[in-house]
Amino acid sequence: MYLRHQTRPVRVGDITIGGSDRVFIQSMTTTKTADVRATLEEIHRLEEAGCELIRVTVNSNEAADAIREIKKEMHVPLVADIHFDYRLALKAIENGIDKVRINPGNIGKRDRVEAVVKACKERGIPIRIGVNAGSLERHILEKYGYPTAEGMLESALHHIRILEDLDFHDIIVSMKASDVPLAIEAYRLAAEAFDYPLHLGITESGTLFSGTIKSSAGLGTLLSMGIGNTIRVSLSADPVEEVKVARELLKTFHVISNAVTLVSCPTCGRIDIDLISVANEIEDYVQNIKAPIKVSVLGCAVNGPGEAREADIGIAGGRGEGLLFRKGKVVRKVPEQDLVAELKKEIDILAKRFEET
Ligand code: SF4
Repeated sequence: MYLRHQTRPVRVGDITIGGSDRVFIQSMTTTKTADVRATLEEIHRLEEAGCELIRVTVNSNEAADAIREIKKEMHVPLVADIHFDYRLALKAIENGIDKVRINPGNIGKRDRVEAVVKACKERGIPIRIGVNAGSLERHILEKYGYPTAEGMLESALHHIRILEDLDFHDIIVSMKASDVPLAIEAYRLAAEAFDYPLHLGITESGTLFSGTIKSSAGLGTLLSMGIGNTIRVSLSADPVEEVKVARELLKTFHVISNAVTLVSCPTCGRIDIDLISVANEIEDYVQNIKAPIKVSVLGCAVNGPGEAREADIGIAGGRGEGLLFRKGKVVRKVPEQDLVAELKKEIDILAKRFEET
């Protein structure tokens, strides 16, 4: 377990971001928020995949109005993404939003900022300041010449100061960049400079393939440094894929405890079964199981049980039949055609046992 940098706890709906070693997974819907049915359909798929916080864009009065209906049928906190229009923030707050993403320095006159902060205070709603290397304030860009980590920190501190001056401290900050080393450095500076929880993200990271690699490199580095309290993987893909990648990343760093870990071998000339299909099928099967089970899928029994000693349950393929083993010990032989079904049954038993404890 990589311990987190200590941050202040910030309440968002019924969860607390920061102040502990938990890292919450979040994503953002791709639908028009005003289309309540389509948005809820996507929200429910995200919840099912393990998303713990969901953001919607609030770019119109209709979108802000839809929040009330959306909130009635969802189960995780809802975040409103607002860029400049403070009136949309006020409307979203009135309609029951759990968190607002808005940069106070972009709202305009002080009375507008005060109105948003007052409404957030009254309802216990936090504000996320979203610093983005691509949209730094002009004076900062002029000072540094191009987006730098120092410039991003300066921008974050500028927005933080506006809120602190109004005695508002329920703040979460993101320091996003699509350039991975820049984002890592910006988050590192932020973690040193203040103790507000950090929302991790590599922005515009790309497609499912390249975005997964970029996000894993950047966010993985930060997680290994103990930085980050909530995570969003941004992909040009179905947002459910973002949640899957985020969960896998958190598992990799032992930051998440209620997920299945799959170990599978790379295959080689010794193999007699279609292991790649089996591994993919099992990976799909365990995706939504919320239990800390380690499953091993190996191509052959030569090193199988030994290699999977740490696995709670596993299979090793063979010619016409395979082995089922627990903690590296063979339990029984299983005909090849029943291997996957037997493994699924055993996983279900372990998951049920976990649920009951
Ligand atoms: Fe090859 Fe067997 Fe090792 Fe898989 S488990 S890589 S099939 S030796």
